[in-house]
Amino acid sequence: MQERYEAVIGLEVHVQLLTRSKMFCSCANRYGAEPNSLTCPVCLGLPGALPALNAKAVDMAIAFGLAIGANIREKSRFYRKQYFYPDLPKGYQITQGPVAVVEEGALEIPGDPAVRGVEGNILAGVERAHLEEDSGKSTHESKRSLVDLNRAGVPLLEIVGKPDLRSPKEAYDYLKTLHRLVIALGICDGNMEEGSFRCDANVSVRPKGQDAFGTRVEIKNLNSFRFVRQALDYEVKRHTELIGAGSGPVQETRGWDAGKGETRIQREKAGGADYRYFPEPDLPPLEITRAEIEAIRASMPELPSQRKARFIVSYGLTDYEADMLTQDRPFADYYESSAKLCGNPKQACNWMLGEMSRAINERGGSIETLGVSAEGLAELISMVDSRTINLTTAKETVFPALLAGEGSPGDIVKKRGLAQISDTSAIEAIVEEVLAAHPAQASELRAGNAKLRGFLVGRIMKAGKGKVNPQMVNEILDAKL
Ligand code: ADP
Ligand code: MG
Ligand code: ZN
Repeated sequence: MQERYEAVIGLEVHVQLLTRSKMFCSCANRYGAEPNSLTCPVCLGLPGALPALNAKAVDMAIAFGLAIGANIREKSRFYRKQYFYPDLPKGYQITQGPVAVVEEGALEIPGDPAVRGVEGNILAGVERAHLEEDSGKSTHESKRSLVDLNRAGVPLLEIVGKPDLRSPKEAYDYLKTLHRLVIALGICDGNMEEGSFRCDANVSVRPKGQDAFGTRVEIKNLNSFRFVRQALDYEVKRHTELIGAGSGPVQETRGWDAGKGETRIQREKAGGADYRYFPEPDLPPLEITRAEIEAIRASMPELPSQRKARFIVSYGLTDYEADMLTQDRPFADYYESSAKLCGNPKQACNWMLGEMSRAINERGGSIETLGVSAEGLAELISMVDSRTINLTTAKETVFPALLAGEGSPGDIVKKRGLAQISDTSAIEAIVEEVLAAHPAQASELRAGNAKLRGFLVGRIMKAGKGKVNPQMVNEILDAKL
């Protein structure tokens, strides 16, 4: 897309809450069980069964609201949203709809310089986050359809983003930030393949400078971060071409075909179906006190954004470094343990973003499967700090051996005889020997020809088999001259 047009994107994200039981009954909230084994009269929608609200789901919604600086509504309620589908046994979904417990918050995400013209973070608005129950799951085969109601009644938090995003990259970063946040809060396991974290993307394109939005298309079934970005790239291009051709897109719902790399129409959106919303008579209005909100605030874990800020202040890291370290919790935890153990947070950061990340990328997996303990990394850093080995030896020899499981850094250094010679008298002896062997060069250096320093230091290092401490060599050489 050239500068003439601009994309407008808003995401709707469905987050399955990590409660032990379902939203309105005591059935287990668990993925992967025998189909229809986690059901009861309430979630099967049998006549006369009464729902009872799961208070934990409400607490999780409030925690999310607080984390995004949203307003927590002290009075909200539930509605019946009527539609007919086999995986919705009651014939309606219980949802908060537009009167949500969480409204008007924002997520801080990196702005896309390609469309904003400047680097820096932006605030992407969240219109509301409302509680609702999930539907069951249909599987369509050639001659029949199967329905599994284990998922029916699982608590969902639907997070409705404002149309504040201006490129597929911003949508991607928004989703990543949201994903990180709900995992850090412990309210969702974030598993996109199992459907615990699902995203629908709304996108339109308009001429730059125009206030009114263009016609919007909703893309469903985006079950990976990469697909969100690819599908949006595809749609923005498609809209731009249609607008350029004078026709423009029509409002519709489309699906992403990952195999073909294109979006395809699912259904036209004819002015919105009539869901005949009305207040759920079997549930009382949801009332939340200030005291309850404050109690939840007090029990919240440290959020990724807070942790990042603390890393900058406590460990003297740059914004970029702190950001990279706090991308995922186990990685950040690992960093903190090793930084504390070795007492050198800057070096620990360098190792985490350098050798450690490279090893994870090369081998796949994560910090937890790499097989190097935080203690091991800390010991390696300490050995460099105490000049037992130099940085090159640490990176090129000890670290690969550590990865290969050859024991602790101390063991590896001992076994391979890698320890530097840091004993002053031993180094003095080597320096004297080299000076005596090269009297002409030594006197030229003494006379001020600095070029010969490199030559002599090289000879000394070689005589010390690379194991003498270079800083000490320089100091002793100065003293001798
Ligand atoms: P609906 O009730 O049809 O779902 P909403 O007004 O609730 O519509 O908006 C749903 C989502 O669509 C929100 O995330 C919002 O940011 C996004 N959205 C609304 N209008 C546009 C637009 N013109 N272009 C892109 N996204 C939009
Ligand atoms: Mg909607
Ligand atoms: Zn049930």
